[in-house]
Amino acid sequence: MEIKFNSCSVDQPYQSIIKELLNDYSSIRNKHYSQKCIKILEKTYPDSSLFLTHSATAALEMIALLIDIQKGDEVILPSFTFISTANAFVSLGAVPVFVDIDPETFNMDLNQVEDLITENTKAVIAVHYAGHACDLIHLKTICNKHNIFMIEDAAMSFGNTFRGNPLGTYGDMGVISFDVTKQISSVQGGLLLVNNKKFSKSSNIVYNIGTNKQQLLDGDISYYEWVGKGSKFQMNELSAVVLYSQLMNYSEILIKRRNLSLLYYQLLADLEKNQFLKIIPSQFLSENFNTFYILLKNKNQRETMALHLSQYGIETMFHYIPLHDSKMGVSFGRKELPITNLVSDCLLRLPLHSQLKETDVHYITDKIKEFWR
Ligand SMILES: *Cc1c(COP(=O)(O)O)cnc(C)c1O
Repeated sequence: MEIKFNSCSVDQPYQSIIKELLNDYSSIRNKHYSQKCIKILEKTYPDSSLFLTHSATAALEMIALLIDIQKGDEVILPSFTFISTANAFVSLGAVPVFVDIDPETFNMDLNQVEDLITENTKAVIAVHYAGHACDLIHLKTICNKHNIFMIEDAAMSFGNTFRGNPLGTYGDMGVISFDVTKQISSVQGGLLLVNNKKFSKSSNIVYNIGTNKQQLLDGDISYYEWVGKGSKFQMNELSAVVLYSQLMNYSEILIKRRNLSLLYYQLLADLEKNQFLKIIPSQFLSENFNTFYILLKNKNQRETMALHLSQYGIETMFHYIPLHDSKMGVSFGRKELPITNLVSDCLLRLPLHSQLKETDVHYITDKIKEFWR
């Protein structure tokens, strides 16, 4: 018996579409499948300019270029996140200013943000942990008051909303990840959402390797040339085929993941009630697509539980060495972020993917219960 932590959705006609693409040079050149993906994504994000990228990391790097990060600029972000959230900005010379997280949602504690704003602050980067929304209205008020950019790292949030609107559409810009570790995947890929019209022109230049190629495609000019900064941030067409195959029925994939996480919740609720462990807050269950986690009492118990489950072939994952505590992070000065460290020590993510069966969830939760017997 072996239960993987995640998988790439298998019920799609990848092979036939890839074969078709590889036999058609002009489809590859014209990015036929990227365009088909954009058509579908435009229904979800009608008011944003969309750019398919080779990763969410690339989309964050585009944002750092677009807001023109200079040496010494400060960006405020949680320490409880993936490296790219910080690195995209730090690579251009920004100083990361880490905030602790809220003990219920594991999102940045918004009550601590305002005290950290200085005259060097350029942006706040909100991370929606596991696709669970930050209070974007509250954060927007803070950012507007101090005239700084609000960026959403919605890498884990495809399909998730806040007050009826998709995550990634509230900030000046936002990113989604289509990595194989996320709910919908192109094997490796991402999406940049540009919501602030101020970046309409510059985002095309940065995306097209620093050229005005978009104007050529729009028929406004007859040659394109080098006009600014940029890179080859675009998604590979082979990845676009995989993404398109999944986007054709993405809600099925999302619903399957959500239903499995509901089942986990029901089967583990008693353990939470009797205070053996904590599970994700119930308010997130209706849109829980990305991650199902449990929290143990301490790091030692978390490690023992992970080992116990692995003996039954069940693969689990912790989440994040906190950025402020990592080798690179401490080079910006030591900080005390107690909730971040506590959650990092105690959190364990359980298998969640569209090939997981209900019987697997019963098996996994039985083994979790057995731990205390
Ligand atoms: C996965 C993830 C990223 C990176 O996404 P890639 O597509 O792998 O580059 C960035 N931020 C967060 C919060 C993530 O979960």
